[in-house]
Amino acid sequence: PVRVRFAPSPTGMFHVGGARSALYNWAVARQSGGRFVLRIEDTDAARNQPEWVEGIISALAAIGINESDPAFEGPYFQSQNADRHREAAEQLYAAGKAYYCDCTREQLKERTGSEHLGYDGFCRDRGLVYEAGRALRFRTPDEGETVVVDLVRGKPAFPNSAIEDFVIARGDGSAVFLIANVVDDLDEGITQVIRGEEHLSNTPKQQLLWETLGAKAPVWAHLPVIVNEKRQKLSKRRDKVALEDYLAEGYLPEAMTNYLMLLGWGPGEDREIRPYEELERLFRVEDVGTSPAFFDVKKLSAFNGEYIRGLASEAFVAACAPWLKAPYAPWAEGAYDQAVFEAVAPLAQTRLSVLSEITKYVDFLFLDEPVDDEASWNKAMKPGAAELLRDARAELAATAWEAESLKAALEAVATRHGLKLGKAQAPVRVAVMGRTVGLPLFESLEVLGRERVLARLDAAQE
Ligand code: GLU
Repeated sequence: PVRVRFAPSPTGMFHVGGARSALYNWAVARQSGGRFVLRIEDTDAARNQPEWVEGIISALAAIGINESDPAFEGPYFQSQNADRHREAAEQLYAAGKAYYCDCTREQLKERTGSEHLGYDGFCRDRGLVYEAGRALRFRTPDEGETVVVDLVRGKPAFPNSAIEDFVIARGDGSAVFLIANVVDDLDEGITQVIRGEEHLSNTPKQQLLWETLGAKAPVWAHLPVIVNEKRQKLSKRRDKVALEDYLAEGYLPEAMTNYLMLLGWGPGEDREIRPYEELERLFRVEDVGTSPAFFDVKKLSAFNGEYIRGLASEAFVAACAPWLKAPYAPWAEGAYDQAVFEAVAPLAQTRLSVLSEITKYVDFLFLDEPVDDEASWNKAMKPGAAELLRDARAELAATAWEAESLKAALEAVATRHGLKLGKAQAPVRVAVMGRTVGLPLFESLEVLGRERVLARLDAAQE
């Protein structure tokens, strides 16, 4: 059976790149009745925080990777397997496949003339035994090449002579990440390693470790790097990369999941927006591309808009709830009215691309006065706007308070002023709603009510 794993280090928020790796692993596991193992790589005790583990588990759940699913196994913790990591390193030493080394960085630099040439093998045949401070190095073969079977990249071959004798245990005897990662995969029976491209340079070393430990290496798949609009690798210092941040801003988990699945892979047929189950069925690691995957926030927003429009209206209303109260809502507590919101919700549902935008669409309903948006005001209040507002106020005041007739009334005003309806709407919209863009005007006027609309038209002329 297929056994894959997702092996995050709990060192911060949940990176969208990690989310993509997790989803691809999840799809591969579930397609074949296999297992998805969650392994927390928590050996860097100084940087690991227990709450980040919680964060990983809830972020995974948000994108549909649930602990309760039979395909889910774990979490396991790398730190709990430390004895096995050390044992494996010692086993390699006992078999003559590794040797102790007491070279300092300075000595190495002196001999090779550079810090970047890698280890020169000085201690290979000195027969040193363990002493505190001596590192254990893996003796890489001098000849031949290490061929990595990679489902995305084919079969990259690495000449063994170019692979340095790398460290597998530190001077204090503890094993390094490179071997810990292999031993865990081995112990957990992992058959495929699907992970980010940044690990590819480790892979020939790890493959040698697998083989030397007497096991058949897994099939690898290295996923393409994710880049921003400037073609720079997505970085947490520069870009918004945390899945949690996107969710908190009102990207729906289903839209995120859908979009993440497409970072490096596509289902074909030009139909990219599909439910996860469908993507899972179609996904093949072999079809993942090698070129950088562009994390296109605009496209993500467009996807999200589609998903928002696809919600049942009650679900949409419920999904908006967080943005209709503090700290997002700018109106006074108590000013909010659920029935009023529900009256306009369907109008907003077709317009949003991110749920957090809802606040701006409906704030005119709950604020005492519309927001004071200078740019909108300047744009809408052209010469003649005051006369138009005066006329509109009189006409609307004499009209049945219902969208259709309000529209007819403003049409009449527009005609008198020699304007198209759209031009006549702009000052009215800004006077009543505060902004040049928003919900359809006449429905908004109807919901806001005669009294408040007329008062705002009066106020705007002052
Ligand atoms: N803990 C590693 C990381 O977060 C994962 C290494 C792997 O997938 O093999 O980058």
